[in-house]
Amino acid sequence: MDVITIDGPAGAGKSTISKMVARRLGYSRLDTGAMYRAVAWLLRQKGVEPEETEMVDRICGSCRIEFRGDRIFIDNTEVTDVIRTPEIDMLSSRVSAIPCVRKHLASMQKAIGQAGKIVAEGRDMGTVVFPRADFKFFLTASPEVRAERRKKQLDKSGEIVLYATILRQIMERDTADSSRAVSPLQPADDATVIDSSEMSPEEVVELILAEIARKKEKR
Ligand code: C5P
Repeated sequence: MDVITIDGPAGAGKSTISKMVARRLGYSRLDTGAMYRAVAWLLRQKGVEPEETEMVDRICGSCRIEFRGDRIFIDNTEVTDVIRTPEIDMLSSRVSAIPCVRKHLASMQKAIGQAGKIVAEGRDMGTVVFPRADFKFFLTASPEVRAERRKKQLDKSGEIVLYATILRQIMERDTADSSRAVSPLQPADDATVIDSSEMSPEEVVELILAEIARKKEKR
């Protein structure tokens, strides 16, 4: 099937790393967090609260999510940048705990994965969506390092948010993502866990590629 999964908490560097790994291997990248964000954005746009489960189910079951390169569209509207705000950070985490949202998005993700040669990043790629993936990684880092990285990202996009606020939100999202009933954030039993707190992106990528090469050789 040729699927590489990279799971982990918010701000662990999954996007940077999955982009680099995909480029090195000539694979495409599937950013499943962006899909949850796009659904959160659409619900907010339509004024639907996460608690209105019937409406959420209907909207989620009929929306069209499309990737064009690194850009993401929902129902033909590009949302690549507007889904990267602190508000959507928190709303996507709430929306992702709704079972029908996970069901719809997981089936879309499986369909995209059918083509193979993808690096799938998210929270439940190795555990739920692609349990038979060839190579699984779980990327983590301390909450402080993750908050610093997120702050740099937000600063770059012109969004001024206090470091303390970001750290608090990261910890809240960690708790919500890890304690939810459906597909909680946790490493797959057969995933390689990498703590990137003290590592550069290049070092993490080399470690991942070396691990893939080692496993391929053993086959
Ligand atoms: O990875 P990212 O921060 O963009 O994900 C946004 C939110 O979507 C996360 O807080 C998480 O709750 C949710 N998510 C998920 N399962 C995935 C990917 C993301 O629940 N596979």
